[in-house]
Amino acid sequence: MSSPTEPTSPHVMNTYGRVNIALSHGQGVRVWDTNGREYLDGLGGIAVNTLGHNHPQLVPALQEQISQIIHSSNYYHVPGQEILASKLVELSGLENAFFCNSGLEANEACLKLARKLGNDRGYKNPKVVVCEHAFHGRSLATLSATANPKIHQGFYPLVEGFIRVPLNDIEGLKQATANDPEVVAVFFEVIQGEGGIHPARIEYLQAVRQLCNERDWLMMVDEVQCGMGRTGKWFAHQWAGIQPDVMALAKGLGSGVPIGAVVAGPKAAHLFQPGNHGTTFGGNPLAMRAGIETIRIMEQDHLLDNAQRVGEHLQQALRNTLGQLPGFVEVRGTGLMIGVELDRPCGALIQQAADAGLLISVTAERVIRIIPPLIITEAEADELAQRLEPVVRQFLTS
Ligand SMILES: *Cc1c(COP(=O)(O)O)cnc(C)c1O
Repeated sequence: MSSPTEPTSPHVMNTYGRVNIALSHGQGVRVWDTNGREYLDGLGGIAVNTLGHNHPQLVPALQEQISQIIHSSNYYHVPGQEILASKLVELSGLENAFFCNSGLEANEACLKLARKLGNDRGYKNPKVVVCEHAFHGRSLATLSATANPKIHQGFYPLVEGFIRVPLNDIEGLKQATANDPEVVAVFFEVIQGEGGIHPARIEYLQAVRQLCNERDWLMMVDEVQCGMGRTGKWFAHQWAGIQPDVMALAKGLGSGVPIGAVVAGPKAAHLFQPGNHGTTFGGNPLAMRAGIETIRIMEQDHLLDNAQRVGEHLQQALRNTLGQLPGFVEVRGTGLMIGVELDRPCGALIQQAADAGLLISVTAERVIRIIPPLIITEAEADELAQRLEPVVRQFLTS
């Protein structure tokens, strides 16, 4: 038998460049690999493990659910869907929810809602406005909505119907759409994740909201990464005091159990009718239980406050430890969605940090991304910054 830390397997498709470790178990914000080495988890399974690992309340709830029923079918009512949907409606002020299994599926459903609105209006070529540096997923429609040409490469022809504009440029948005009467929606991440931790500004969010009202477009936000408390509010758009018409959620919603959701307001809540959209696994009882318990525990343990407080603390700690290094550009982010930009490509840091007992990722080539579980404490945040500092120092000065 080959070692579990073998870099590649002939039987697993070669879709990822992987760090040469395999994780076997975790506790809180710490994980251990199959060789027994301990790591601090600054990645949280890519903003997925909201409650960290082996949470003392989540695990028994999921065990109970598994012993009752894992999957039934959307041919029947799923009580957990009613509970989780009404909770998401309460937290967002929107109207209803559709459940799926991943971020791209949530975004695909958003794009189908926009198409449906366009088709209902009799448009021949309905258009969705998307942003430069956007990432929305790897299906044909969501990769077409994604900006990065590397993600398009090899998959032409792309899905049509997108107009691309720079983020945070409301005049640019108006100009790009001025001659197109068939625009139906604007679709963007409130904080771009894969694009390098770039936030939409509050004034921009408010201006897009107003423009969508004036033009009768859907304002659709991809909160797959920045939603579910990561920034210190349930949803990142809430920092601007606005409501979108459609919001996509996924990553952190199930604390590790695959789940996605589209939450819609009155302009989009009734576009789909039976037969328009569906999923076999989406909304299954296990995933619903994970979502319900995640939100319940987040409320009980005040994890929004924690994300904001520890996030600010960690950002300051990173500025203190890294700020004087040559090649450091800036620390930015909101709450526990943090990017440390360097002046050069730094993908090599992923393995080097792992060697030093820290899990991180690098996006947009030059941005160290830190998106730990929302349960992280200030002491653990200090430890994270302390483990990162020598690694970055060595990288920038050697
Ligand atoms: C991760 C991510 C997606 C894709 O989610 P998957 O579950 O990998 O399909 C889409 N949008 C954003 C903003 C993401 O961060």
